[in-house]
Amino acid sequence: MTAKAVKRAFKYRFYPSGAQAAELARTFGCVRLVYNMALAARTQAWTLRQERVNYNTTSALLTGWKKTDELAFLNDVSSVPLQQALRHLQVAFTNFFAKRARYPTFKSKKRSRRSAEYTTSAFRWRDGKLTLAKMAEPLDIVWSRPLPEGASPSTVTVSQDAAGRWFVSLLCDDVIEQTPASGVVGIDAGLDSLLTLSTGEKVTNPRHERCDRKALARAQRAMAKKEKGSANQARARLKVARVHARITDRRRDHLHKLTTRLVRENQTLVIEDLTVRNMVKSRSLARAISDAAWRQFRTMLEYKADWHGRNLVVVDRWFPSSKLCSTCGALAERMPLNMRSWTCRCGTVHDRDVNAARNILAAGQAVTACGDGVRPQRGNLRSGQSSLKQENPRATTGIPVL
Ligand SMILES: [Zn+2]
Repeated sequence: MTAKAVKRAFKYRFYPSGAQAAELARTFGCVRLVYNMALAARTQAWTLRQERVNYNTTSALLTGWKKTDELAFLNDVSSVPLQQALRHLQVAFTNFFAKRARYPTFKSKKRSRRSAEYTTSAFRWRDGKLTLAKMAEPLDIVWSRPLPEGASPSTVTVSQDAAGRWFVSLLCDDVIEQTPASGVVGIDAGLDSLLTLSTGEKVTNPRHERCDRKALARAQRAMAKKEKGSANQARARLKVARVHARITDRRRDHLHKLTTRLVRENQTLVIEDLTVRNMVKSRSLARAISDAAWRQFRTMLEYKADWHGRNLVVVDRWFPSSKLCSTCGALAERMPLNMRSWTCRCGTVHDRDVNAARNILAAGQAVTACGDGVRPQRGNLRSGQSSLKQENPRATTGIPVL
């Protein structure tokens, strides 16, 4: 058994005093302003002068802004969250230049997440109490689960969601004991069931989701009817945000339990890369929601597999996983989406999704046998095609070449 040192975030709700809430609201506002001004400066430098501006330059800009009369209020909040905002912007640009993300966008007062990040110089952690810079009293945190023994946070992120709830996330060092598991599993993403496993198990969406989604639609309709900018509309918007928060909370809990179980039971987990599929499909609401769930599922699975020393294999969807018989390898001719089960020539009756999950597992195991972490490339398909083509001349022997 080995142990792995990891960085792990622990998130809790907290209840700020009036003064703390005001200080945090001010900080969120300054973080947003600094981020947007730095983004504007970087965009301008690039479009007008083809200059790349880096973090250090934006940091110098910030120092200058603080000295002006109009922006002197930036000095009233802790400087660390403002610096962190510039670092986040730097990361956004790095991702953009590496073609991993789109061009960074401005933070909006209404739509963007309200948050501020504090590093060790901007908070005090003593006797299990957390006090942020510019605050006299520690935060009133609800310790819903314990921090690891002796843990001490290196970064603290404070945020407020659209439903008005306050959260603090503490990034701590933790040690994970790695015990090998015996299982292997292929996982297929679906629409009617959230996931289907190669073991035949179907994982459904959280029990209340259908109900919650109806409530969400109802609340959204109610909000649309209210007069714009009125107190009634603000109340209706809060109601929408509350239902939304309930849905995302339940989904996250559900996915956490699910990924923890899958990683505990299995040494090798195989999933398919859905990014290719996402580019071609049309977007329905149900699809958008299931895609969001899948992305979250994959992110959780990736870091938990890493923590626990599991082998997570991502296969390209280069093979027809639904149409291929997992028993005999024959290819079914056509497979409309509404066909939930089918019978192969070999006599096997397949559940469409379970069969797909089994094929995904087989593809993943083939990849691991060839060498760790190697993904089947499109070239494999092409070489498969060319070997198929080589057979063609035989089939056409005797036909005169014109
Ligand atoms: Zn078959």
